[in-house]
Amino acid sequence: MVPRPRAGEPGPGGRAVFLDRDGTLIVDRHYLGDPEGVELLPGAREGIHRLRELGYRLFLFTNQSGIGRGWITREQVDACNRRTEERLGLAEGFAGIGVAPERPDEPAVYRKPSPRYLRECVDRFHLDPAACWMVGDQPRDVEAGRAAGMGVARILAEGDRCPETGAPAFPDLAAFARWRAEEETGRTGGDHG
Ligand SMILES: [Mg+2]
Repeated sequence: MVPRPRAGEPGPGGRAVFLDRDGTLIVDRHYLGDPEGVELLPGAREGIHRLRELGYRLFLFTNQSGIGRGWITREQVDACNRRTEERLGLAEGFAGIGVAPERPDEPAVYRKPSPRYLRECVDRFHLDPAACWMVGDQPRDVEAGRAAGMGVARILAEGDRCPETGAPAFPDLAAFARWRAEEETGRTGGDHG
């Protein structure tokens, strides 16, 4: 799977956020094949735009075993991803989209918790893993990010820690983005103070 470069993206800054799709950006409808079913979660659009303002390149990284099961097609998943970009107001789209089609009972190549897509993007886009984040709603999202040497965060309805992994948890993407903004503002202030 070659990460998809997009025109109009900012030049390599080394910083990126990799976002899970279902349960993180949009409502998880399980094997979604109809773009009409794309419904943004609260805070997703705000979070995306805050992260862009902070200078992060934005990638989508989604397990879609419905493809491997033969229940939905790659074309349907691509259409839902495009609709997700539209709903988020990402006119030029994500910097790259990784779709893992494997079934859970198949050997995982790209399927999270495999970090392969993350590592390929680090190489392809000259990213600094230590300056990147993987954000998702499942422990396997956290595991993939950690395996790639990235910061990790979980979207979780309740609690400020992922019980399985200890990763910091946020109720929605906007809360994660605010936390990043606060951390980075604090760090900048410290550098100057
Ligand atoms: Mg998910």
